[in-house]
This record gives sequence, structure tokens and C-alpha cells, in this order.
Amino acid sequence: MRLTKFFLPTLKEEPVDAVVISHKLMIRAGMIRQLTSGVYSYLPLGLIVFKKIQEIIRDEMNKIGGNEFLLPALTPNEMWLQTGRLDDFGDIMFKIKNRDLVLAPTHEEVFTSIAKPNLISYKDLPVMWYQIQTKFRNEARPRSGVLRGRQFTMKDAYSFDVDYKGLDVSYDLQGKAYKNIFSRCGLKFFSVNAFSGAMGGSASEEFMVESEAGEDIVAITEDGSYSSNIEIAVSYKEEVGRKNSDLPYEPFHTPNIKSIDELAEFLKITDKSRLAKSRVFVNPAKDENNKDEYILVLVCGDDEVNETKLQNIFGQNIRPGHPEELAEITGADAGSIGPIGLKNKNVKIIADLRLKGADELISGANKNDYHTNNIDLKRDVRNIEYFDLRVVKSGELTIDKKLKLKISKAIEVGHIFKLGTKYAEALHAYYLDNEGIEHPIVMGSYGIGVERIAASYIEQNHDDKGIIWSGEIAPFKVHLICASASKEEIVKETDRIYNSLLNEKKIEVLYDDRLDVRPGFKFNDADLIGIPIQVIIGEKNFKNGNAEIKIRKTGERILVPLNNLNEKVLELVNEY
Ligand code: ATP
Ligand code: MG
Repeated sequence: MRLTKFFLPTLKEEPVDAVVISHKLMIRAGMIRQLTSGVYSYLPLGLIVFKKIQEIIRDEMNKIGGNEFLLPALTPNEMWLQTGRLDDFGDIMFKIKNRDLVLAPTHEEVFTSIAKPNLISYKDLPVMWYQIQTKFRNEARPRSGVLRGRQFTMKDAYSFDVDYKGLDVSYDLQGKAYKNIFSRCGLKFFSVNAFSGAMGGSASEEFMVESEAGEDIVAITEDGSYSSNIEIAVSYKEEVGRKNSDLPYEPFHTPNIKSIDELAEFLKITDKSRLAKSRVFVNPAKDENNKDEYILVLVCGDDEVNETKLQNIFGQNIRPGHPEELAEITGADAGSIGPIGLKNKNVKIIADLRLKGADELISGANKNDYHTNNIDLKRDVRNIEYFDLRVVKSGELTIDKKLKLKISKAIEVGHIFKLGTKYAEALHAYYLDNEGIEHPIVMGSYGIGVERIAASYIEQNHDDKGIIWSGEIAPFKVHLICASASKEEIVKETDRIYNSLLNEKKIEVLYDDRLDVRPGFKFNDADLIGIPIQVIIGEKNFKNGNAEIKIRKTGERILVPLNNLNEKVLELVNEY
């Protein structure tokens, strides 16, 4: 491709509205432009990259027996009502005003509606169906460029099996295909178990890319042998243990002391583990025949309560008590709550495993401005139960005490999920077994974000000059630069090299053949858009019969005799 014929509006200045690196670089490198919040136009360079990613995905899906579809984005309200998702999605779903249609945020319903009249016998199963298609989601805060768009491209696949054993096989096939896809896209990735008890039942894995631009928080080891979403991450932390002094507990005055830090300072102690943090949660009644359940949660003063872990024990509706409720339930405000002397005697008390059987604890006295010392959970708190309730922190050890954990931000690039029979049942997609008995089809769903892969790649592969492409998703392999455009013989020679690399060697070349642009400008553009191999034809080297090659990733420069250029370029193209 000749740059004089290629629309590549690069920018020197950073766009003011972009925060994350990939967003800034995609705009500056002329890959995308924003049309309106969360909605982007894909310019030629961006589209080339997105299409290469799609081709990798398509290839890996076909390899595991996937059949490609292309289903509509406009979908009838009716099918979303049947699965209850018109409400579940809420504001995330774009609803059409003058028709009973919605713009699909995902396609379980539509694929299941095709399965229903067509997959009617066990002989029709299993199947793996997929599409690469535009999705619409009214994301609340689309502020990271194409990482979180309101219109974006997703590969979504669905497996249909006779039973859960079949689903396990389909799920594993997808998991392996995902690993191939992300490797081929050049991502450093890991997967985390996204299974949460509260979601009900099935396995689910998220594929993550470590990045400051990420919105997920994960706990990982350096070697990748452990990785988990922070929401369910576990670590080893010593129990606080017992001192066995058996002193009686006693309230004492702590004027204006509201936080653990203030309490530690007031008591002049640095180890906060025995300052038990007490928080009250409310588990709302399931119906009018039941009452709200009140739960007091104790963790060490140097820990935080992990609310997802609480949800996994008590269900998704559990929530922190409101200030008025706290006073009503405990007799005090947030900073003075504790396990001893609660106003409401029916509060369930649970504590983190670190506090198991601990004594000499200090916590709120359930009276404003008072705390209680010498609390012995074994002696003083009847029916207490212990769970893992804490948020894992950076630097802690894995449960087997072998490796250090670090807490990082990560981008979710893909998600595989064992759906089970939810959609088949809601939309009546049943098959007949070999005895003529009806069963719901067992489904899995598997999503990957196309643009999110590209943005994640850039997050991981850039420097202060721009993007650093490599491997299969590089938009071009070679960036050929005519650095002496005023010299006719050099232009002619660069033209010849272009034609030779393109037609004889079948290499994808972007040729900066602009005659009216200074070399420095061309070099900056080349570094910004980041094609792996730069071939520079300039007057000085040309006179000595050489071309200069610059490797974008390493910055290394190599002089190569012109008569050997094609071979050298071919060799480097395969390496980078
Ligand atoms: P997130 O938690 O980031 O919103 P999600 O759980 O909603 O993601 P899925 O519904 O599982 O995501 O969608 C499958 C894949 O589609 C995601 O792993 C991600 O790569 C991509 N994706 C989801 N939402 C967006 C978006 N708004 N913009 C770009 N890609 C997206
Ligand atoms: Mg989402």
C-alpha cells in the first residue's frame, strides 16, 4: 500500500479526551475516530488490524468444528421477555423506540431460537455455532476508547450438547481455542476462575490481560500458577491466635474515635490485627413471611471485608446496613459497633478465619465513643461462625505458602461460560433422546472482544514513540520509507524495492512514498504506527549500495546491501 493512496491521519498531539494509552495511540496512529461517546469509526489502518484478529478467531473456531453464522442485531422484544433478560439487562440494552425491537447486546436468545426447531434429536447434537458480529451495549462509562464501546465487535459462540458431559467437552475445546487465539494475537494473558456461587451453578472462566487500563482487579503469582479475580481470591495469612490471659472484657471511653487507624493511634499500637473491625450487613427477606437477616461481620483491623465472598455465602442481595439501620440494630454508629452488647439480640455474628478463636480483641462497644477490650470470641460470642471473608492483599502468600501474590489491574478479553439449560428451558429448545424422551439442550456460551484484543495488545506493546506491532496482527510487515524524495533515482529505486517486496516476496508493505514530507516526519509516523520492520532508503546509504533497516521493537539498525535486501527483510519479517 502506498501512503499517498492510504488514508492515514496521524496526529502529533495527544487527544485531550483520551485517558488510557491504547486509546491515545489508536487515535494518534489514525486507526479510529470517535463519532460519539463509546462509538467509533474504524479507519483503514484500524480495520486492517481488527480484520486480522477476526481471521485468527475464525480460524481457531473452524478448527474446533465451529459453524459461522451472521445473525441480526435487531431482535424482537418477545424473546428477551421469555428469558427475563429484557428486565435483567435494564439500561444496558438499547431499545428501539418505534418498534418492539432491541439492539442485541449478546445472542443466546437468537441462537437458541434457531436451535429449537432444528436440533430436535440427539442425532443433531452436539453442535458449535458462532458469529463475529456487532454488539450494542449502553455502557454507563465508555471512557477507555474501544476497550469499552457502546458498539463493538464480538465473537460469540454457543455450544449445544445432549448433557453436561458433552458440555464439558465443548467448553474445553473453546478454552483451548481461546488460548491459541490470544497467543497468536501476541497477548500475555492468563485465565481466572469466574465461578461465583451466587451466580448459580456452572463453571466460567475469564481470560485476562494485565494492564493499568483494566477495570478488573486480580491476584496473580509471578509465574502465573495462581490467578484469581480479587473477588474470590484467597491467600495464606496467619491466625491472630490466643494470648489466654482470660481478662474480663470492659468498655472504655474513646472520644471521637471512628476508624481503626484513629483507634490504633489513640491506643499507641502499630499491629492492628487485634483491633477487630465490625460491619453490619442486611440480607433482605425473601418474601413477606420472612424477616430481614442482620449479620455482623468481623475482620482484623488491617483487613477489609470482601463483599463478593459474603454474597457467595448469603446470596446476592446482601448489602451493607444503612446508617439509620445500624443505630437501630446495634445501638451505635458505624465507628462504634462490635460483637458485645448489640441492641438487637438476633444478629448473626460471623468472623474471618484469621480471627478463629482469638482473644484480647478490641472492637466497638455498641455505644458511641466507646470500645470494648479483652473480647474473647471463644468465650464471649456464642454461635459465632468463621469463613474466609477478607480481601487478599499484595505481597501475601498463596494458600500453600509457596509463592507471593501481587494485585494487578486486568482487562477481560474473553469469557467462557457453562450456561446449562437456562435458555433451552426458557425458549423450549428440547431434543428427543434415543428412547423418545424430551430433554432441554445443554448450552455453553463463549465471547471474545475483537477491538478489546487490539487495545489490550497496544496496552502491552508500546513505548513513548508509539505502537510496537509484531506477528500475525501487525497491519503491515514492512514500512518502506523513501528518505530522499527529492532525488529522482532514489525514488525510482524505492519504487523498485516496493514492487519487489510486494509482488515477488508477497510481503505486506506500507510504502511512505510521499514526496512533500520531510524524512523526520516520516520516521516519527513510522514509529507511531509501529510496523515491525522499517526499511529506509536514503541518499548516503544508497550511494554505498546499502539500505537501512530499523527494527521497531528493539530500535536496532542494520545496514544491508541492496542486492541482499529482499532476503534479509524476509528473514526479519519471520522473526518479528
Ligand atoms: P465487562 O465485564 O468488561 O463489561 P462482560 O462481562 O460484559 O465484560 P461478556 O458479556 O462476557 O463481557 O462479553 C464477552 C466479551 O466481549 C468480553 O470478554 C469482552 O472482550 C467483550 N466486551 C464486552 N463488553 C464490551 C464493550 N463494551 N466494549 C468492547 N468489548 C466488550
Ligand atoms: Mg459488560
